[in-house]
Parts: sequence; C-alpha cells; structure tokens
Amino acid sequence: MTSKLSHPNIQNGWFRESGAMWPGQSMNIEVNEILHVEKSKYQDVLVFSSKTYGNVLVLDGVIQVTERDEFSYQEMITHPAMFAHPNPERVLVIGGGDGGVLREVVKHPQVKEAVLCDIDESVIRVSKQFLPSLAVGFESPKVSVHIGDGFEFLQNKRDYFDVIITDSSDPVGPAESLYQARYYELMRDALREGGMVSTQGECQWLHLPLIKEVLTFARRLFPVAEYAYTTIPTYPSGQIGFIICSKDKNANLKEPVRKMTAEQELKLFKYYNSEIHRAAFVLPNFTRQAIAGAGEQDKSE
Ligand code: SAM
Repeated sequence: MTSKLSHPNIQNGWFRESGAMWPGQSMNIEVNEILHVEKSKYQDVLVFSSKTYGNVLVLDGVIQVTERDEFSYQEMITHPAMFAHPNPERVLVIGGGDGGVLREVVKHPQVKEAVLCDIDESVIRVSKQFLPSLAVGFESPKVSVHIGDGFEFLQNKRDYFDVIITDSSDPVGPAESLYQARYYELMRDALREGGMVSTQGECQWLHLPLIKEVLTFARRLFPVAEYAYTTIPTYPSGQIGFIICSKDKNANLKEPVRKMTAEQELKLFKYYNSEIHRAAFVLPNFTRQAIAGAGEQDKSE
C-alpha cells in the first residue's frame, strides 16, 4: 500500500468497518491505496482502492459502496419500485450522492425528470473523481442536483413525484431524520396519485425492531408497504433491505407492471430481473414472525 494518506480505520493494510448499528461484528477489506481522506461539513469521507472490491467509499467509518458489489443495492433499491409503477416520469432521489441510483433510474425510458437531493456536496465531488461508474448517473440531461437536507427539501413539495427513492446512510448521523414517520409523511405528500417510495430499510439479520417500527408507521401512512431485500457481500451480514410503499391501494409491489425482455434485462441489469423482483419480497420465517402485525392494528381502527 503506497500512500502518504492515513485514516484511523485503516491499519496494517486493512480497512476495518466501525458501525454502531452492528455491534460485535466488522467487515474488513484489504487496502491497496488510500485515495482520499476528508472531514466534510457533515461526515468523515474516506475512499480507498482495495485488493478485491475495487474503489470503496466510506462515510463515518461505514462502507457506502464498493465498485464490485454496488450494483446489487443500486438496482434493487430502484427497480422493484420503478417497475411496479406504470409510468414513472418524475423521480426524486434523496441521498444517493454517489450517483448509482440515478444511473439506474434513467435506464427507464418513461423518466422525464430525475432530481437528486444530497446533504453533502463532498460525496458527489468524491464520487465523480473516484467512482466514475456510479457518478455516470449525474451525466444524464434528465438529472438535476440539489445540495441540502432531504427532510427540508420535501417540506414544500406536494403531489409532484411518481417515485421517491431514499438512498441514505444509516440513522446515525445526518440521515437520522429520514427514518421517522414525519419523513414518510413528507414523502407521501410529495407524491402524486399512484406514487411509490423505496427507502434503505436496513438488515433483517440485525435490525428487525427498526424494520417493524418503520413498517408500522409506513402502513399507517400508505395503503401498501412491504419489506424486500437483496444480497450484497460488503454490507453488514451480507444483506440489506428496502421499505417499498405505494399510494395506490390496489398496487401489487411484488409484481412488475412493466416488463422488459430477458435480453433487455441481461443487457441493462447485473442483478435485477422480473423473477428476482418477486423473490425479493419472499421473507424467511424469522423475519415474517418479527414483523407480523406491523401496522395491522392501525388498519382495524
Ligand atoms: N448505499 C448506502 C447505504 O445503504 O448506506 C448509501 C449510499 S449514499 C452515499 C448515502 C448518502 O446519504 C450520502 O451521500 C449522504 O450524504 C446522504 N445523506 C445522509 N443524510 C442525508 C439527509 N438528511 N439528506 C440528504 N442526504 C443525506
């Protein structure tokens, strides 16, 4: 490893993740070279090139994306909601400063406008410099970028977007407000009829109480809300989930209402296809039991 830069999470040529939300475990990745270290206005920003995962972006000690496996997350936070919507013309991404979700959103020809709002300009700048295969998402003429807090950005938005994707970091730090009922209310009000939401929904191996809590208030605010998940080696416990909601009480989130041919899917996506769309919502018994009844009592009231 040849670099004049140093970072407390990198010792003896290995990065060691530090995350308060997964006590007792830590992902380690072997480092080639530290590429960037910065204290932004909101977060500690680290980028390093790794032996086996390409370039890696870390915020506040937590792995955000690696070039090798990011496609799993970017595709699965984006396409189930996008393909469950009949005509997603106006899309908003909250967070997503690496550009990967934008890259996925503009693969849908129906999209006329993709707005991104991230609180930290440093993530966008650093991604453009060190993660070009993700930052390509910023190059589409359909894209506009706003630097600010997503919670504030939504305060005056009403009946406008078709899909809102909240690609945020964990609820420790600047993203804390994005895991609260009021934020889901703001997303709901910013959606026009039939609108969909897809948010970073944490991991069923680690965060079942949080998942149940979010599903409970999401089901109070939306007629349809489900948890789906994907596999991804470098996120804690190798999985991460999504809370996907619709304002349309007849929406079936688990079925794509628009489908591409198998050839188109293979050409455009490295993870998503219409079968894995359905499979993503099939949950193991321990998860079903843990989230059973989430939001049902509200429906009976
Ligand atoms: N895929 C990652 C994950 O699942 O943890 C998230 C990647 S993306 C880099 C996370 C982004 O959320 C960061 O760019 C961060 O600046 C942004 N962010 C955090 N809090 C935010 C807020 N309140 N409003 C807007 N963006 C926020």
